[in-house]
Amino acid sequence: MQAWFWHSAKFVLGEGVAAALSFDQPERDYRAALCRFEDALFARYPEGHRIMGEAEARALITTVFTACGRKVPALDLVAGFADPQVGGYADIRRNRILIEEGCLYRFLVLHESAHLLVPTDHRHGAVFTYVLQMLYRTFVGVPERAIRDLLLRHGLPSYTDLPQDARLAA
Ligand SMILES: [Zn+2]
Repeated sequence: MQAWFWHSAKFVLGEGVAAALSFDQPERDYRAALCRFEDALFARYPEGHRIMGEAEARALITTVFTACGRKVPALDLVAGFADPQVGGYADIRRNRILIEEGCLYRFLVLHESAHLLVPTDHRHGAVFTYVLQMLYRTFVGVPERAIRDLLLRHGLPSYTDLPQDARLAA
């Protein structure tokens, strides 16, 4: 799947995102449901909840953004956030990912990466979810079927198709 992503990431961000946009409901904010979805998903696929070392996290970020043809963001570990519920933050303006010390979870790094890849979707909507699930499939190894079932169960946008050209390349 990682080799596939290397070939197809730009299609995912282009045609895939364009297709996902047609499933978007711009009036809805999915943040709370998405958090529950991630909890359930990584209870089943614990690799997502594994804490990485800094070097490993930076290497993961470099792989994701290089494949996507985007500038690789900085990773800064911080003491914490005002809201204790928050463990990570995507600083879009300065192209950096902030993660609380001790919270360098694999899924969290991918989640904040998805925010930088599709910064226009602030509501964890269809476009964000589309890119996020592609990252979870590629870099956590979750099967598409498991992702789609759980997205549906949590009332989230569940478009998971690969763009046509990417499917041919895969
Ligand atoms: Zn988020």
